[in-house]
Amino acid sequence: MAGKGDGAAIGIDLGTTYSCVAVWQRDRVEIIPNDQGNRITPSYVAFNENECLIGDAAKNVVARNPTNTVFVKDAVITVPAYFSDSQRRVTKEAGIISGLNVLHILVEPTAAAIAYGLHKKYSSSVVKNVLIFDLGGGTFDVSLLTLGKSSFEVMSTAGDTHLGGEDFDNRMVDYFVRDFNIRHKKDIRDNPRALTRLRTACERAKRNLSFMADTTIGIDCLYDGIDFESKMTRAKFEELNMDLFEECIGHVGKCLKDAKMDKTSVHDVVLVGGSTRIPKVQQLLQDFFKGKELCKSIHPDEAVAYGAAVQAAILTGQGNQEIQDLVLCDVTPLSLGVCVGEDEMSVMIPRNTTIPNRKEKRFTTSRDDETRETIKVYEGERCRASDNILLGAFVLSGIPPAPRGIPKITVCFDIDANGILTVSAQEKTAGITNSITISNVKDMISKHEIDKLLQEAERLKLEDAEHKKKFDEMGSLKNYIYDTRATILSKRLAFTSPVATRIEDEIKSAIKWLEEHQSAEAYLFEDKRKELQSMWDTFIRNV
Ligand code: ADP
Ligand code: MG
Repeated sequence: MAGKGDGAAIGIDLGTTYSCVAVWQRDRVEIIPNDQGNRITPSYVAFNENECLIGDAAKNVVARNPTNTVFVKDAVITVPAYFSDSQRRVTKEAGIISGLNVLHILVEPTAAAIAYGLHKKYSSSVVKNVLIFDLGGGTFDVSLLTLGKSSFEVMSTAGDTHLGGEDFDNRMVDYFVRDFNIRHKKDIRDNPRALTRLRTACERAKRNLSFMADTTIGIDCLYDGIDFESKMTRAKFEELNMDLFEECIGHVGKCLKDAKMDKTSVHDVVLVGGSTRIPKVQQLLQDFFKGKELCKSIHPDEAVAYGAAVQAAILTGQGNQEIQDLVLCDVTPLSLGVCVGEDEMSVMIPRNTTIPNRKEKRFTTSRDDETRETIKVYEGERCRASDNILLGAFVLSGIPPAPRGIPKITVCFDIDANGILTVSAQEKTAGITNSITISNVKDMISKHEIDKLLQEAERLKLEDAEHKKKFDEMGSLKNYIYDTRATILSKRLAFTSPVATRIEDEIKSAIKWLEEHQSAEAYLFEDKRKELQSMWDTFIRNV
């Protein structure tokens, strides 16, 4: 969780085809190269009889060993914007299992926007819109983000989970397979190894064509001992893929339409994903936005990890003042809790907890035979619930009458990725449940107001410590009285004793005392407990 971390703050983008790790160091983001010295690592794992190969080592053996090589998919710390809460949770668990301390699951478009510092750029209170165009190896995601008061919100998403760089490679592969067939009357497709070698060469050619007008492909002994050599121009490559490129632009239109937004309302367009290096893709997108300059100064396959590293630095309290002033995205700005007993704030989700999140706690009744409990939901850092902000309340009624402490009431706080908080309470034996939904906890109050509340909590720390002491002392007195009563009750099942009856009367008057002294100071509860203890201990032994 948030706090001053000692170690480096790392951001991880585990993509479907390539992964990238970045770190906040020396007051800036650095991309960590892998053991082969490459800045991005293929998301591959290969197995042979003796070892498990990861990344470049695995990708390099694909051509030799195509059937034993598999992708590692969906093991990400940044996740696509369309991921559901449970998909995000599973991702987080996978990170934890692999030995990481997962600070946060951040959506990829937000990470890219953070990488470009777009949240700093828009310091005014006017809402700004950012379109993130992420064309990767196997997937295409368009997201429209709106920067509100304190964080980015995903307005709409569009795209295709089966459209990306590999499709462009395949178009070129198809073209050369036909070309080979015409020239040699032989079909490469019946030889998986030859096909993989051709595909690898095509991907390389495609990359070259982002910087050159033409390139050549040469593969020794490709098929039946025949060497293959051919030329590919950028124009031909564009022609082979034009319908796919246009499909991408179509998704951009759809994304805007879903958010009911005109393209002229988009303030920035950000390029993410290795395939956005293709000049034609950039040109079509720029034309669509009527010549708007695109954000492309950060390597597109590193932007997500870059933003994730910045976010990690913010969350661990690292970095310079400038970075600390950045907005905290997707965390609870203040603690969330319920009121228990006499006005005590019981924190369910501490401040700066990343969202989505879910916490459950067991409570009980505070008086005998209580059949209804009011659940009051508060936000804030103060010790007394009433010193915090009341967000809402609801009643759980129909609790079976029982002595205090017996009913089990489970309260659950569930906050989703959009900051919508659902608080539910349940009593299982009677099968009763009730809940309340509080919309957008994370954006409800401004950064300025949050700062004011935090300063106030800091200023009144001593006063709060007194309240805390009182709640603790009151709690232990209460527990002592009721535990004693439970002991007497259990022993009286076996035999009746006049001593027991006398203690019962004393317990009744102690409960009465407690109710009459709700506003007493901590030491009084402590004194009372000590007094009762010295009086009762010998009695109880004699019951
Ligand atoms: P992921 O989908 O895993 O997030 P990336 O964003 O890293 O993937 O993009 C990988 C894709 O980008 C691959 O298909 C790769 O061929 C393509 N790519 C990388 N560099 C270039 C380039 N210079 N020109 C065209 N495509 C490229
Ligand atoms: Mg990606």
